[in-house]
Amino acid sequence: MLFKEISLKGKYLIEAKIELKTGLHIGTAGNSLEIGGVDNSVIKDAFGRPYIPGSSLKGKLRSLTEFHHDKLSLGNVIYSVYNEVKSENNIRMHMCRDENCPVCGLFGRNHGEHKVIIDNDGKIKPEDFSDGIQPTRLIVRDAILDEDSISDEMRDNMDLDYTEVKFENNLDRITSAANPRQTERVPAGARFKCSFVVNVYNDDGNKYLNELITALRLLEDDYLGGQGSRGYGQVKFKDIKICYRDADYYKGNNQDERKYEYKELGEIKKLG
Ligand SMILES: [Zn+2]
Repeated sequence: MLFKEISLKGKYLIEAKIELKTGLHIGTAGNSLEIGGVDNSVIKDAFGRPYIPGSSLKGKLRSLTEFHHDKLSLGNVIYSVYNEVKSENNIRMHMCRDENCPVCGLFGRNHGEHKVIIDNDGKIKPEDFSDGIQPTRLIVRDAILDEDSISDEMRDNMDLDYTEVKFENNLDRITSAANPRQTERVPAGARFKCSFVVNVYNDDGNKYLNELITALRLLEDDYLGGQGSRGYGQVKFKDIKICYRDADYYKGNNQDERKYEYKELGEIKKLG
């Protein structure tokens, strides 16, 4: 099928606070070389405040959803970055042509030809995904630091304006010599304001909203950012507000909004 009619039925707008239960490290592409900078710094906005890039949050939620729906089997995994020579830089992820795929429908599918992995030796088969194209339903905004969440006590314990610097040691197993390494992180207790949009097309109903809520639940029992296996990046979603606006709202024909509020994810029942 080369063309499928798609109509926008409405939008779910989701807002929540992300509360850090442990320190968060989302690094920058290059390490900071500024004077007085730390080795392994966190990403910050133009005002020097740490934030959570929408791309980081979206990528993590996608990854969790791929595992949750068992979408990482042979024939379901592509190379999104592929370099035959420097194979250590290659990135494998799920992407497929199934128009009902919960992962590709929510998080997006790139058109054009993809390198699909078809055997355990990594053999690839080129496949054109153009016939499965649909708009991505999910938009993830950058999550902004809520400065009110930084208490005076937290400030007293910080090394930099909004962050603490932890020393992580790697021990030599023979001499026990330590090789300390700095890692900057946003401290536990800090909160970020996050927001999402889930576009509703055709007969989507609440399918993709429910997938997003599931992904947020999975994230609470996983981690965000780096060094998760060392305890970093445990988060909890709080004060979740969901608002639905239908297509007529945007045409100016009505001002109807359906609104739902929850203290935490556990209160949300699956929306039918
Ligand atoms: Zn898929």
